[in-house]
Amino acid sequence: MVKKMNVESFNLDHTKVSAPYVRLVGVTTGQHNDKVYKYDIRFCQPNKDHMEMAGLHSIEHLMAENIRNHMSNVLDISPMGCQTGFYLSVLNNDQFEDVTAALEKTLNDVLEATEVPACNEVQCGWAANHSLEGAKEIAANMLDGKDEWHIVFAE
Ligand code: ZN
Repeated sequence: MVKKMNVESFNLDHTKVSAPYVRLVGVTTGQHNDKVYKYDIRFCQPNKDHMEMAGLHSIEHLMAENIRNHMSNVLDISPMGCQTGFYLSVLNNDQFEDVTAALEKTLNDVLEATEVPACNEVQCGWAANHSLEGAKEIAANMLDGKDEWHIVFAE
């Protein structure tokens, strides 16, 4: 028996998942009954594939800016250090379909983007490390798997 760890994803068997997928990680309730819903949005199969850093960085900027046009109460969307996905945190909305609909619209925005927002030394911590083409490739691959986003584990 593996010891249960503090971080939910450290208790997830990454060999059993089937990317791409969207998975509710957990719900945190505040003292006024506000709820934060945290999602694991997995773009790449763990330990088989990953996003290259420049494209990942650009799709991070593009999704962070655009997803807020399609869904209210987005607290954060941030890349995983393993470069296989993102975490999304949403306040007071328990609708999985709202998340997948916003994600689809946001990825389509990426495909249509002509530039990476905030891609400069004033607004970003590594402005030289971007690839719009890389971001579009990542978005297209993720959209290709859209019908399987609700399936987290391999059969
Ligand atoms: Zn940046």
